Amino acid sequence: APVLEFRDVWFGYRPGRPVLRGIGFTVPSRGQVALVGPSGAGKSTIFALAERFYDPDRGSVLLHGRDARFLPYARYRASIGLVEQDSPLLAGTLRDNLLYGAGPVTSRELRRVLAMTGLLPVVAGLPSGLDTPVGEHGRHLSGGQRQRVAIARCLLARPDLILLDEPTAHLDPDSENVLAATLHEISAVCALMIIAHRFSTVRSAERVLVVDGGLVTGSGTHDELLRSS
Ligand code: ADP
Ligand code: ADP
Repeated sequence: APVLEFRDVWFGYRPGRPVLRGIGFTVPSRGQVALVGPSGAGKSTIFALAERFYDPDRGSVLLHGRDARFLPYARYRASIGLVEQDSPLLAGTLRDNLLYGAGPVTSRELRRVLAMTGLLPVVAGLPSGLDTPVGEHGRHLSGGQRQRVAIARCLLARPDLILLDEPTAHLDPDSENVLAATLHEISAVCALMIIAHRFSTVRSAERVLVVDGGLVTGSGTHDELLRSS
């Protein structure tokens, strides 16, 4: 079964005002699915339902083929990681920031995740490596580096799916491209669903869903959608 499925999902914040009007899609267990579409289309609302801040008014959200409504909330949420536009760091060391919320992590696994997220050179450049304070009162990491820390933290908690809400929105184009390449590599080991603020950032997504007016109005690869537009 796909890791996540929306099946004819209807949802509104107010009665009689549906914001999602029959959304359907699946997210395979590997690869990237990107959501694009104009502001107000319903992309963030899709994420809010995927995070179970709300349940659908009609239709269903399924995790591994099972209706989310009937899964214990803690178990459901443990399967879903979240990365937002900005990822502030906690006061504390880089290690603290990476490991909170994770279960026991071997040093081998930590190293693997640091490599996958492009953080090994960052760690090597810090005066005390992983034990360098990086929060408010320590050394600040760049926006792109903070996003990498957030993604690494997610991966260490071993979710089945990571939701990324415009993860490159506040990065310069170079950082954006490097992070997009990193996300492509990570999608070989974990499913990613990404709200993209720019169409060009989703070139490597296996599937792009165009959302408009609470409906999926298009679906295909980046190149297929370019040709049909
Ligand atoms: P997108 O992420 O594509 O910009 P949203 O899901 O944020 O779209 O918004 C879809 C619609 O739902 C918009 O009309 C928006 O005004 C409305 N909306 C979003 N969040 C709320 C909320 N918390 N309460 C009421 N209406 C909301
Ligand atoms: P910034 O916001 O400072 O540009 P980035 O996240 O773009 O931060 O990159 C931080 C540093 O890590 C850069 O020097 C970049 O070249 C390096 N880097 C990024 N991704 C990788 C990767 N996958 N492998 C090795 N190095 C990487």
